[in-house]
Amino acid sequence: MTLQMDPVRTSIDLSDRSFKQLIDGRLLDGASSQPVIDPATGEAFAVAPVANESQANEACLAAARAFVGWQKTTHGDRTHILEQIAVRIEDRRPEIAQIITLENGKPIAEAEGDVDAAVTWLRYFNSLRLDPEVLREDDESRIEVHRTPLGVVLAIIPWNFPFFQTIYKLAPALLAGNTIVIKPAPTTPLNAMVVAEIVHDLVPAGVVNVVGDGGEIGPFLSAHPAIAKVSFTGSTAVGRKVMASGDTVKRVVLELGGNDAAVVLDDADIPAVAQRIFEKAFWNTGQVCINIKRIYVHASQYDEFCTELARLAKKAKIGPGLNRDNEFGPLQNARQFQTAKNALGIAARDGKIIAGGNVIDRPGYFVELTVVRDIEETSPLVAEETFAPIRSVLKYDDVDEVIERANRTDYGLGNSVWGSDVGRATTVARQLESGTVWVNTHSAVAPDVPFGGRKQSGLGVEFGIDGLLEFTDSSVIHIAKKAYSDN
Ligand code: NAD
Repeated sequence: MTLQMDPVRTSIDLSDRSFKQLIDGRLLDGASSQPVIDPATGEAFAVAPVANESQANEACLAAARAFVGWQKTTHGDRTHILEQIAVRIEDRRPEIAQIITLENGKPIAEAEGDVDAAVTWLRYFNSLRLDPEVLREDDESRIEVHRTPLGVVLAIIPWNFPFFQTIYKLAPALLAGNTIVIKPAPTTPLNAMVVAEIVHDLVPAGVVNVVGDGGEIGPFLSAHPAIAKVSFTGSTAVGRKVMASGDTVKRVVLELGGNDAAVVLDDADIPAVAQRIFEKAFWNTGQVCINIKRIYVHASQYDEFCTELARLAKKAKIGPGLNRDNEFGPLQNARQFQTAKNALGIAARDGKIIAGGNVIDRPGYFVELTVVRDIEETSPLVAEETFAPIRSVLKYDDVDEVIERANRTDYGLGNSVWGSDVGRATTVARQLESGTVWVNTHSAVAPDVPFGGRKQSGLGVEFGIDGLLEFTDSSVIHIAKKAYSDN
């Protein structure tokens, strides 16, 4: 394990910079404020505004008022505005990426990748149309299905890909004619405040609102009667609460937790597959819903695979994300750091640690990339979602057995199968229970490919035309061509 001890300082100083919420077209301070912690140091580097219930209420009501006019704008009006947002994001790429790295901790190249992905997703949605579909046209009748906007969308964002997630919810929401209230995670608020700066003079007042959260405003927002839909990304536990909140029938799309398995078949090229699985298992320091979290390897290749994965974990460069040499950053926040420490304890108790296993002795929330072998499936490290850079390698003998074990989870977000015989690997993939199953890759997402979870990993999809349709209701126009006909 190589430790990078010398962070390269940011070229932007945020200590005097003021970040604002966006409510009803105005950039506003919060009712209170909170420090934003750099997880690479554990120290505050900026201050973020925090809304109280009165401001959150005003944001919802402003979005409801704005919906009246926004839903009547043309497709061309909306695409024009969305393209201007894309251009402004591109213009501010270096600054946005640095803010992401400072508040999230991820390596700067990955933060830049998040900004680029946000623009790609935005432009993808901007290329789509929601034209009416003619279901029937005959002498008797004409039946059309129109897609209508829902009203106010509440976007609840986690902290692991904060800017990207905000933009890939904002773009389809606005394109479909909805207005939006964005609630960033309490520990990564600043990127959303930059979105507020970018859009405030491009959209009519109230169309986009951004409210700061000190950790308490989420339930108030998701229960608010003006909210027509909640687009939620986060844990399964909170997703259940969001679904049950309020007294109105809300649309929800829930992108929740995952406990993705990788099944390595006995014809796999172990050095090549171990390298790829390493990248997908530890990406974002193990804090991705679609990280590989359980790795099943055939008994004939188990020792070779474990040795190779441990070798890769030991040579990983870990340190502050602003230093471009670093491949992995810290855990995102103090609670995550504690989660990781707990997981290290479970790993030592339940399995054999062959790489890592320790907290890194330096400021900030750093732990070593950790590989565990000879661990039982009943260990919480395997049975539950481990949102930290600690990964288990499990041995299997028989393909039917490993399919059953991989499916033995309440989660169903992603899985992957790895092998040289692609046909055989695909046959196994078809039997795994998840929204996506990859063959010889993992966590590859694309703007035009629907993404969502089965079982307790979610409800509905994001991305693709299906993801756009989730921001609409259907409205059937049934025209009887013969007056007073019963048809
Ligand atoms: P979290 O559920 O704790 O928080 C997610 C968001 O919900 C945050 O903005 C938080 O402030 C808000 N929130 C918390 N309690 C709330 C409540 N009662 N009502 C409304 N909002 C509330 O999740 P997290 O720890 O920020 O993120 C990690 C989790 O997110 C992991 O389980 C991960 O798998 C999941 N995740 C899923 C996807 C996906 O696409 N499926 C993507 C990223 C992360």
